[in-house]
Amino acid sequence: PTFTNTEPKKSSSSPSLSPDDSLPILAKAKGHYYHPLSGPRILDACGGAGVSCIGHGREDVARIAYAQMKTCAYASHAHFQTTAAPKLSAWLVDSTGGHMRKVYLLCSGSEAVEAALKLSREYFLWAGEPRRVNVIARWESYHGTTLGSLAASGHVVRREPFEPMLAPVFHKIPACNPYRQRLAGESDAEFVVRKTAELEDVFQRLGPDTVAAVILEPVVGAALGCAPAVPGYLQAVKAICEEHGALLIFDEVMCGMGRTGTLHAWQQEAVVPDLQTIAKGFAGGYQPASALLVGAKVVEAMEHAGKTFTHGQTYQDHPVVAATALKLQEIIQGGNLLGNVQVQGQLLERLLRAKLGGHPNVGDIRGRGLFWGVEFVRDKATKEPFDPGLQVAQQVYRAAMRDFKVLVYHGQGCAGDGKGDHIMIMPAYNVGSRLVVDMVQRV
Ligand code: PMP
Repeated sequence: PTFTNTEPKKSSSSPSLSPDDSLPILAKAKGHYYHPLSGPRILDACGGAGVSCIGHGREDVARIAYAQMKTCAYASHAHFQTTAAPKLSAWLVDSTGGHMRKVYLLCSGSEAVEAALKLSREYFLWAGEPRRVNVIARWESYHGTTLGSLAASGHVVRREPFEPMLAPVFHKIPACNPYRQRLAGESDAEFVVRKTAELEDVFQRLGPDTVAAVILEPVVGAALGCAPAVPGYLQAVKAICEEHGALLIFDEVMCGMGRTGTLHAWQQEAVVPDLQTIAKGFAGGYQPASALLVGAKVVEAMEHAGKTFTHGQTYQDHPVVAATALKLQEIIQGGNLLGNVQVQGQLLERLLRAKLGGHPNVGDIRGRGLFWGVEFVRDKATKEPFDPGLQVAQQVYRAAMRDFKVLVYHGQGCAGDGKGDHIMIMPAYNVGSRLVVDMVQRV
């Protein structure tokens, strides 16, 4: 295909930075389809934004939300407990095998990341180490839209208007990206050693006793297009954090809650973080839900100091959010949908590789579970990315929607420096084989 410079009018790499009158108006969304007011239905191949994990328009979920709204739509978490939030928290703690011991139920991914960053600061105040304020993150990352979470992110387009970010406490290393960084003939183990040396260098440069936390996504979502960690990488990062006494934060806003085939992405790597954020698939879009999960080490320090986390917002522990998320998780567990994520994920991978693997402008296809990214390149041999001004991923998304009536998620920046285009395929966990075939045919 040839890509023109004329179509996109926005400079963003994300579909939702500003209202756009040209977007189709929806009459409804049901199952795996969006139904615009006019025109044919559109197949949802990306759960909206990696969110809708059991499809749209579920009566059973709506009934629970409605019932909770009638019983108690809101109570300030400063004054009351409701039954839904503690039940959900207990279930979440249990789902981590007790590694995580406390849950703050919040509303957005950004907020959960912000809370994790704040708690890492407060933890070291309780521990008598107030010098620990630095945070190490990765360039190829997106952690959120608030100033703190954005400062932790490397997303060039979103950062640009707000420079300087909250310097000087945020520091970046390149993410672990085998497609672009692995040297010829380098083994996983050698690659991991080289990559973690970069992290160790930053610790040494800053002074290890000034670092509060390292934050990363176990499987990088929007910034790299579904890039799983190289085997051994997360263990090595955890070991460095432990050696230097820093906390490890896993941002599982996008890759967590079943998206990669296990409830928590870290379960596949057997690396437990100190703090974990979840969102998107948590309530599957039926409520704006997120959470910060706090590991045993931090909870024990909190208890030992006799302190509470100085963080709170109006909608914390929201009963409707909690009841809805609980119902959603009941549906996912009850229907063994994570088993389906694994099975359909294998089919999705096979079909994507068969259809697009040989395409001259497809550089890499990567992912896990129902979380797959396709990276576009101008030149397959040199891996040279397209000119960012062309916004190739955005053109692909628009063309897929217009011509093939399928919604895919587009992103830019996966080659670093704002360059590198990809699309992401992230269907709902209850997708069947026929629909996976249909999806790939349309992409
Ligand atoms: N972290 C990650 C890994 C994300 O993918 C996102 C959103 N795409 C966020 C944080 C921010 O979440 P939200 O948009 O819900 O604030």
